[in-house]
Amino acid sequence: MVAGIVASRLVYDIVVAEPDYLICLECETPVYVFEWREGRVLEVVCPTCGNEDPGNFATEDEIDEMSHRGEEEDEE
Ligand SMILES: [Zn+2]
Repeated sequence: MVAGIVASRLVYDIVVAEPDYLICLECETPVYVFEWREGRVLEVVCPTCGNEDPGNFATEDEIDEMSHRGEEEDEE
């Protein structure tokens, strides 16, 4: 199915694309210096709080998703 191939390519591009910055989930500071490879954070250090756990950072898109999810919950 050609449509399926195109769709999965789009998803691949979105997932792998390097974001402009990561947001520290500890103190919400945007961090512009980080190592990014194939859709994952390899290394990042927050200059404000010293957080260096890639699991404690989110991309702008992920933050966006989280806040949208929160809005939906509020409506119900
Ligand atoms: Zn931080």
